[in-house]
Amino acid sequence: MIATQAFDPETFRREAREIIDWIADYWQTLVNKPVLSQVDPGWVRAQLPMLAPEQPESLQAVLADMDRVIMPGLTHWQHPGFFAYFPANTSGPSIYGELLTAGLGVQGMLWATSPACTELETHVLDWLQQLLGLPARFASTATGGGVIQDSASSGVLCALIAARERATAQQSNASGLHQREQPLVAYTSTDAHSSVEKAVAIAGIGRDWIRKIPTNTRGEMDTTALAAAMRGDADSGNRPFFVAATVGTTSCGAFDPVLEIATCTRLHNAWLHIDAAWAGAAAICPELRQAIVAGAECADSWGFNPHKWLLVNFDCHTLWVADRGALTRALSVKPEYLHNPASQSGAVIDYSDWQVPLGRRFRALKLWMTLRMIGAHALRQHILQHVALAAEFAGWVRADPRFELLCEPSLSLVCFALRAGDKASAELLYSVNQSGVLFCSHAKVSGRYAIRLAIGGTLTQKVHVASAWQALITCADALEKSQS
Ligand code: PLP
Repeated sequence: MIATQAFDPETFRREAREIIDWIADYWQTLVNKPVLSQVDPGWVRAQLPMLAPEQPESLQAVLADMDRVIMPGLTHWQHPGFFAYFPANTSGPSIYGELLTAGLGVQGMLWATSPACTELETHVLDWLQQLLGLPARFASTATGGGVIQDSASSGVLCALIAARERATAQQSNASGLHQREQPLVAYTSTDAHSSVEKAVAIAGIGRDWIRKIPTNTRGEMDTTALAAAMRGDADSGNRPFFVAATVGTTSCGAFDPVLEIATCTRLHNAWLHIDAAWAGAAAICPELRQAIVAGAECADSWGFNPHKWLLVNFDCHTLWVADRGALTRALSVKPEYLHNPASQSGAVIDYSDWQVPLGRRFRALKLWMTLRMIGAHALRQHILQHVALAAEFAGWVRADPRFELLCEPSLSLVCFALRAGDKASAELLYSVNQSGVLFCSHAKVSGRYAIRLAIGGTLTQKVHVASAWQALITCADALEKSQS
């Protein structure tokens, strides 16, 4: 009875409207809220009852607690002054897709469990492969294809497992790696995302078997060092099997020289994965594409996060492989209870064979709705506008003698510091983040403490970037005064 009430179309019609209104109100008032949550650790839990309710509560009661308890504990990722990490976008169309996903309640582990879930995903990823200008071999119509994962971390893990299987002639899933005489070795740069190291640990390669190749002063992988490391390993009887290159590193947005890296991977028949988690979205703009997809034709896998900068809400990582067989041979397990004529015919894709979990959400809907209702043209404008704003912001930094750029802006990411040194930069970041106007994060760039301004929020426009700069110089003035 209660369960039926929770699934009552009329109640849903009424209550869902209230939720939509609540979200619309949130967006309208968002800009007036401090970007960073101000609560102390434990504050949110202290507001909540110790036990779950026995009796149903009204939507009004829950929404009241959204305002009273949840709201103060939020860091507002959709605030136009959010410049930390890499922003995570959302948009109306993407949320409609998310809502449809939840409303349909489909679980798309097999083609047979909902053909539309699989076929829409295949189709939309082919659209995206073309929009990004990725090589044709990543298309489902060729030997490859795309799949939606939750995150870039899952993407690199799947790629690494496929590479491991390929390098061990499909033996490592069966017999493990512990008895191998020839240890497998993975390579990435010191500036690569930590998800590469995590994947190496999870896949049983062992963290001792990842070589972190140094970067040059621009944060790009040093390919002479990569070639030497791979040759050294091969000469010692180890098996170089996987290289993760980054296009748009997390700390400073550097692009690894993919074509040179590909020369090394080809020599050792190693898998080349390209992590373009953030920068990849910008490849939809023809004027930015070349640098982003350069060398992609040599890659075995290539992934980016539409949830970062393509107006799709978290989570949505898109991973393409050049040889889908390599991925499915590594990840497919088909117990009796999953057998069905369509899978056995070999004529369909079962995306559970392309990822770690069995079950999967109908994520393609939000990507489809975003692409259809916003359109590629407006998505390009979204990205180009942020790239132009980053160039403008970098100009303001250059013009102020107290500041310096730690590297040239990369797309919409600007890394800068106070000339007074790391301590002063860290103090400035702390105080500016307290202002409530903006939220920036930091990284180490060429050994220096860098303040990162990552422009990419759905609502972020020139006025917000200008306010961020104003807040930074006001805080820098105050720090100078307090020290004099
Ligand atoms: N790779 C790069 C270059 C990133 O910047 C990030 C996150 O910002 C990731 C991977 C990890 O992304 P995810 O949170 O989707 O696993």
